[in-house]
Amino acid sequence: MYDYLIVGAGFSGCVLAERIANESGKKCLLIDKRDHIGGNAYDYQNEDGLLIHKYGPHIFHTNSQKVVDYLSRFTKWNEYEHKVLALVDGKYIPVPFNLNSLHQIFRYEKAIHYEKLLLSNFGYGSKIPILQLRNSPNPEIIELADFIYQKIFLNYTLKQWELEPEDLDSAVTARVPVIVSHDDRYFQDSFQSMPRYGYSAMFENMIGNNPNIELALNTDYKSIIKSVQYKKLIFTGPIDEYFDYSYGPLPYRSLRFEHEIYDYEFFQPTGTVNFPNNFEYTRRTEMKYLTFERSSKSVCMVEYPLPYIIGENEPFYPIPQVVNNDLYNKYARAAEKISDDVIFCGRLADYKYYNMDQVVARALHVFESKIIDK
Ligand SMILES: Cc1cc2nc3c(=O)[nH]c(=O)nc-3n(C[C@H](O)[C@H](O)[C@H](O)COP(=O)(O)OP(=O)(O)OC[C@H]3O[C@@H](n4cnc5c(N)ncnc54)[C@H](O)[C@@H]3O)c2cc1C
Repeated sequence: MYDYLIVGAGFSGCVLAERIANESGKKCLLIDKRDHIGGNAYDYQNEDGLLIHKYGPHIFHTNSQKVVDYLSRFTKWNEYEHKVLALVDGKYIPVPFNLNSLHQIFRYEKAIHYEKLLLSNFGYGSKIPILQLRNSPNPEIIELADFIYQKIFLNYTLKQWELEPEDLDSAVTARVPVIVSHDDRYFQDSFQSMPRYGYSAMFENMIGNNPNIELALNTDYKSIIKSVQYKKLIFTGPIDEYFDYSYGPLPYRSLRFEHEIYDYEFFQPTGTVNFPNNFEYTRRTEMKYLTFERSSKSVCMVEYPLPYIIGENEPFYPIPQVVNNDLYNKYARAAEKISDDVIFCGRLADYKYYNMDQVVARALHVFESKIIDK
C-alpha cells in the first residue's frame, strides 16, 4: 500500500514526491504516461551530444529565494540572462521593447523625442503593459504604443493564440511590458540561471535512488488506478481529463517543434529571435546559448503554434480567457468536493499559465499546507 499515488512526473509531481519521501518519510508511487521524467522541462542529448529541451526552450528565472534554495539541493547553476531580438521591418530589435529598441527602429531625433516622452511620463525603469500604454491620454504616446502593438504584439499574439491581445487575459501581454530603460534582458528577475547539467539531471537527483519513491513510466493512470492500493491521490495531469470532460474540454494551445542543425559554432546573434510579422513560426531558439556547450554544430528549435487536439498533440498553454477560467472553476468546485481523497496541483491540474518557479512554489505550498504531518 502506497501512502500517495502521484500522477505526472513533471516539476509538480517530482517536487511533491521528493518532499513526501524525504520530509514525511512516506511511500509514493510516481507515474507518468510518457517514457521519461521531467514533464515539459525534460531535456536529452541528441546524436551530436547537444542538450535539447524536448518540449521547447525552458529558461529558469525567479524572484523566490525559497525556490532557488530548494532546487539548489539538486543542481548547480550556470548564470544565464536570456536575450531576445525581434525581426521588425528588416531590423533585429531588442524585446521587451525598451529605449535601445527605440533607437534601433527610429531615426535619431524621433527616438530621442519618444525617449523624453516616456521618461517624463513614466520615469526611468518603469514597465508598462502595452494595453495600458495604448490607453495613454497623450496622443504621441498612443502613436508610439500603436507602432509597438502593431509591429511586436499583434501578429505574434495572433500566431501564438489565434486571438488578438485584447481577447486574452491582460496578464498575458503584461508578461512582456514596454520597459523605460536600457535593460535589454528578457527577464528582470533577481535569479536567472540554468541547471548546469540540464533539467533531467536535476530531476534524477530529486527522485532517483529513493527507497520511498517507486517510479512507473509509460503508465497512464487510468490503466492502473483500479489495481493500485494507495491512501491519497495527487493528480498533476489535466483536471478536465480527470473528470472525464464532464463540463466540456478546457482549451489549450499546442506547438510543433522543428530542429535545425547548423555546422556553425553559433547561428544567430542571441538565444531567441522572434518573428512577429514573418513566417508561420513564432520564434527560433539556439540551444547552445542556454546550455553553454561548445561544439562545431548548433541546434535551433523553431516553434509552430497549433490548436490543441485531445489525443493528437500536447496541451501546452492554458488559454487565459474569462470564459475558460469560468469553465475551469466548475472543475475546481468538483475537485473541492473530493479534496479529502485527491489533491490537484500543476499547470494542467490548476489550468494556470505557471512558469517553472511558480509551479515549484505551488508544489511546496501544497506539501506544507495539505500533506506535511497529515
Ligand atoms: C513550450 C513551453 C515553454 C516553456 N518555457 C518556460 C520557460 O522558459 N520558463 C519557465 O519558467 N517555464 C516555462 N514553461 C512552463 C513549464 O513547462 C511549466 O511551468 C512546468 O513544466 C509545469 O510542470 P507541471 O509538473 O505542472 O506540468 P507538466 O510538466 O506538464 O507535467 C505533467 C505530467 O503529467 C503527465 N500526465 C498527464 N496526464 C497523465 C495521465 N493520464 N497519466 C499519467 N501521466 C499523465 C504528463 O505526461 C506530464 O509529464 C514552458 C512551457 C511550455 C509548454
